[in-house]
Amino acid sequence: MKKKLAAQIINFIKSLKFKVFIIVALLIILPVLICSVFIYQVSVHNYIEKKIDRFKINNTMLKNSIISEGYLDQNNESQVVDTQIAQLSGEYNCRIQVINNQYTVVTDTEKSEIGKTSISENVIKSIDGKNIFIENEKENYVEFAEPLTIAAPTADGGKTSSIVGALYIHYSMDDVLLYKDAVGRYVMIADTLIIIFALIMAWGCSVLFNRPIKKMHEAIEKITLGQMEEQYQGKEYSEVAEISEEFSKLVERMNMQDQSRQEFVSNVSHELKTPLTSMKVLAESLLGNQGVPEELYQEFLQDICKEIDRESEIITDLLDLVKMEKTDVEINISSVNINEILETVLKRLKPIAENKNIELIFESFRPIIADVDELKFASVATNLVENAIKYNNTDGTVTVSLNSDHQYFYLKVIDTGIGISEEDQERVFERFFRVDKARARQTGGTGLGLAITKDIVLKHHGSIKIHSKEGEGTTFIVRIPLKYIA
Ligand code: ADP
Repeated sequence: MKKKLAAQIINFIKSLKFKVFIIVALLIILPVLICSVFIYQVSVHNYIEKKIDRFKINNTMLKNSIISEGYLDQNNESQVVDTQIAQLSGEYNCRIQVINNQYTVVTDTEKSEIGKTSISENVIKSIDGKNIFIENEKENYVEFAEPLTIAAPTADGGKTSSIVGALYIHYSMDDVLLYKDAVGRYVMIADTLIIIFALIMAWGCSVLFNRPIKKMHEAIEKITLGQMEEQYQGKEYSEVAEISEEFSKLVERMNMQDQSRQEFVSNVSHELKTPLTSMKVLAESLLGNQGVPEELYQEFLQDICKEIDRESEIITDLLDLVKMEKTDVEINISSVNINEILETVLKRLKPIAENKNIELIFESFRPIIADVDELKFASVATNLVENAIKYNNTDGTVTVSLNSDHQYFYLKVIDTGIGISEEDQERVFERFFRVDKARARQTGGTGLGLAITKDIVLKHHGSIKIHSKEGEGTTFIVRIPLKYIA
């Protein structure tokens, strides 16, 4: 049970649906997350920057008032400065100290250090003329310690400046935390909504992309269950359309193969039954008639023998054909003298040709050595020449011509016989096809010879063509590569 579940999970992870889902989801979510982190950082940074700029303006305004009001000279009494300090500390919750150049704290919004000498390093530095700015992000505050400078005329009519004290302000930045929280919350809500949207989109895309494949899968499943007429015509994407087109062709081919297998089986049964039926009729007529003359016995038994020969011829051809159709059939390729094979074949068939007074001519343009299976090639030549004699007229000719180029050798078997009509030319390589069945019984053909011949030629990576005209004759052209490449 657990194993099944694990297998299902692995299967789902490996599926296109899951991959599309993950890719689309990541394509939306990742950029959004990166952007939202960036937006968060930038807006917090801007907020702090603006705040510090505001502080700086406030500091300058306060410094200007302290100097212009002569705050440090007039016993630290100025309505304007006091109001400004009160407003500033109220608004920003900051601590403000004014220190004179004797390092004595003259004003402190927290009152605790008034009249005391400031020992703050930053204050001392600012009385020395330095502008101090400290930003402490950990403890959330910023500190300013800035010199209070007045300009005084010099004896030579120029201007000099002297430091009369320092202004120290400590601003709390606690509100930055609040701002960060608020922005973070908005960003999180936006991110969550976008992630939900991304997941819905990703799911939609994965279903959409997967739909044609699912349909195709269902169609294949139906075909596997034997519903051959079910064909899927996927038009959603051009790739799927191409696959479904190829798939339809495959189904069509399978249908044709199935049909031709059925035809083959019914042809085989019929062909094997015909001689048996004849034998039965002959035997029964002998058995049914008493006192049959000796000569009639002889004649009928001869006929029965012929039918037995025919039956065995059909079986031999069938076995040859089945052997050839096996994809792993062995062919014994060797370098063979083609001229010699043809001469032997013609010599063997000469007596049959002479029976019909047919002239056998062999035209060889050059000696040819090629890689072929000697026995199988001999049976190709035998079958073609035998047919050329069988389907020839008395006193006709059969010309066997042999030629080659740098790549192939060509065997032509030309006869002056009955010829084959155009529509039948396409069918002569089919198993059990015979143009004239009645005549075939006399000539003794099985209708398998050319099917075997074609199979052998194809096994040699060659081709076979036919040219014929009814009443004029037929030419078969076989082309086979000189070098066999497995
Ligand atoms: P078969 O054993 O009947 O000769 P084949 O497969 O060799 O079987 O040939 C198939 C059919 O093609 C023959 O029955 C015949 O009708 C036709 N055929 C083959 N060769 C020739 C030819 N040279 N001239 C005319 N018809 C031919």
